[in-house]
Amino acid sequence: MTALVDAHRRYRDELLHHGLLISMGVDGLYGRGAAFERVVEGVNHAFAALGDADRPEIMRFPPGIGLRQLERSGYLASFPHLAGTVHAFEGSDREHRALVEALQQGDDWATRQQATHVALTPAACYGVYPAIADRGRLAPQGALVDVYTYCFRHEPSIDPARMQMFRQREHVRLGTADQVLAFREQWMARARALFEALTMPHEVDVANDPFFGRTGRLMASSQREQELKFELLIPIVSPEHPTACVSFNFHGEQFGRAWRIEAADGGIAQTGCVGFGVERIALALFRHHGFVPADWPGGVRHVLGL
Ligand code: ZN
Repeated sequence: MTALVDAHRRYRDELLHHGLLISMGVDGLYGRGAAFERVVEGVNHAFAALGDADRPEIMRFPPGIGLRQLERSGYLASFPHLAGTVHAFEGSDREHRALVEALQQGDDWATRQQATHVALTPAACYGVYPAIADRGRLAPQGALVDVYTYCFRHEPSIDPARMQMFRQREHVRLGTADQVLAFREQWMARARALFEALTMPHEVDVANDPFFGRTGRLMASSQREQELKFELLIPIVSPEHPTACVSFNFHGEQFGRAWRIEAADGGIAQTGCVGFGVERIALALFRHHGFVPADWPGGVRHVLGL
């Protein structure tokens, strides 16, 4: 494992050295340099080339969701260890003095803050379900939404591909099980073709989410048995530990139930999403094609619109 940590550190230091990432003093929290950001835009360009023809509705959300939305989504039951909530100071002058004193003495001042009504977005699609639910019953063709936002997961790591704040570009499908599964199938084929064109080593495999605790292990194995989640994996620093760069998810009725999303036939809507981890894909591109995008093969640059 130490060898893997060393490999992560080496790659991270190279990315910092080339100005692709900018250190912010916290593992997993980085600024992005110009070349890195151009490649991220290129990944979005390639994503749009695959998905725009489906004419999704575009929604853009801030990197936060309502605390009630987080509660109702079920995220805290499954991933309490990854969730982030926004806290703020709401005290009196006296409490403010105590806070400043704690700060000066190096004591814990954060416990003097209270939870606000805002949580950090755990996955790009979380803003979509309540928005669609508010509109009432789905049309027979269901709904398709394109989202792109910063997400937060509390998992500090030296691995540059495991950021605490990163962006997901997603298409979210709501409708019948057949509609959602056909959508997922189509995107698996599209993603394979894309990474073929980018000349990147990749494989698609069944996967599970990092559910918390003992019951989480049961949930993870049931998720695998039912093949609810697939991931497209690309080796970044280690062939033995490839990184999930795209995920293809079928949620069944989970979000339909949580948000009472009504299907066209009056039942509960089924949902699924396909998420591109744009930073991870950029990191994989830099790993496989080098740190200077101008030197990448012409075909790769073309796919990314660079
Ligand atoms: Zn999603």
